[in-house]
Amino acid sequence: MAPVTGAGEEMHALVERLYPLCRSITGDGVRATLDIVGEYLPLRVHEVPTGTQVLDWTVPQEWNIRDAYVADASGRRVVDFAASSLHVLGYSVPVRARMELSELREHLYTLPEQPSLVPYRTSYYAPRWGFCLAQETLDAMEEGEYEVCVDSTLADGHLTYAEHVVPGQVADEVLVSCHTCHPSLANDNLAGIAVAVFLARALAETAPWYTYRFVFAPGTIGAITWLARNKERIDQVKHGLVLACAGDRGPLTYKRSRRGDAGIDRAVRHVLRDSGRPHSVEEFTPYGYDERQYCSPGFDLGVGSLSRTPYARYPEYHTSGDDPGFVSPEAMADTLDVCREAFSVLDRDRRYVNLSPYGEPQLGRRGLYDSLGGRSDAKQAEMAMLWVLSMSDGEHGLLDVAERAGLPFDTVAAAADALHASGLIKA
Ligand code: ZN
Repeated sequence: MAPVTGAGEEMHALVERLYPLCRSITGDGVRATLDIVGEYLPLRVHEVPTGTQVLDWTVPQEWNIRDAYVADASGRRVVDFAASSLHVLGYSVPVRARMELSELREHLYTLPEQPSLVPYRTSYYAPRWGFCLAQETLDAMEEGEYEVCVDSTLADGHLTYAEHVVPGQVADEVLVSCHTCHPSLANDNLAGIAVAVFLARALAETAPWYTYRFVFAPGTIGAITWLARNKERIDQVKHGLVLACAGDRGPLTYKRSRRGDAGIDRAVRHVLRDSGRPHSVEEFTPYGYDERQYCSPGFDLGVGSLSRTPYARYPEYHTSGDDPGFVSPEAMADTLDVCREAFSVLDRDRRYVNLSPYGEPQLGRRGLYDSLGGRSDAKQAEMAMLWVLSMSDGEHGLLDVAERAGLPFDTVAAAADALHASGLIKA
């Protein structure tokens, strides 16, 4: 499958545009993010009121922030939200006060082991205020009085998420989900958002078999909200993929669904293996991103998760080191290619029945050997035809054939097309 020309650079530009916004699980930063995504894809934006019961959870109050700083006695801002959205503890309650550094310290978060980096911290469900800063900045702060200000609002409002649908030939759906709640962090998860956007655009040009539903929602509470509101139609979701940490320079990592052998698990594994890319495939764990919601036992969807370096396994994780320079156009383009290839497998994975199952049908008489003439992979293509005929018993799909035969899915699918055209198999 040919790469999408220029997609890596365009995805990186989108990451850079979204990076400064202060996102959280609710609030105007999420809306501003979806406004920008909406320039690339038409979105259906959902606003769910505070207090709405969603499965075992409740939609929280909406958080918005305008300014936040710590200023020294001379009025100089030593920590300034305007410089980075990471500087304020996410969901900080408002505060305006003067206090000694000794008292202020209880509200300061640093990374002593990585003294030049600012950590990412939140307090969604316990009312606190705080600042995140580099240990180096803290070390340079002298004893004395500081002015602190968090100009935020926590009030009844809404949780905001969005959907984009690429219509397919059937109503059965593939879900692509990514979290939109992290502030200025590039790999986690602006790269995931950017890959999802360009994946949707690429799929729209292929007239896909499945209907592809993209969900842009805050982590945990957003996925839970989406599930609560789609519980009645959840059987329509046949496959799914959570995209996170999709842009760092490490090799790809696929985390299987809870079921372990769902269609998506087999499709991604096949594509990764067949491509020869360095990669790893890991078993499901009930931690990580929103696959833990989609795979919860009541839903048990066939949803896996694709990352490059998984969460918490790179030193820049949840720090100011996860900036746009940490993600690369090439890595995002590579993630995009694997998604497109895996979905192309899902889209074309059909079961066929051999209509001439008693002995081998004569391929030469039907011109099927001639069709291979001159192809450099003629032998492989011939083997693919024999395998498709052999396994087309109505029980096995084309991905089963590719795996059993050790052949690329594309070769097997092309063989099936040729056999179908000559009337030897039927879907
Ligand atoms: Zn995260």
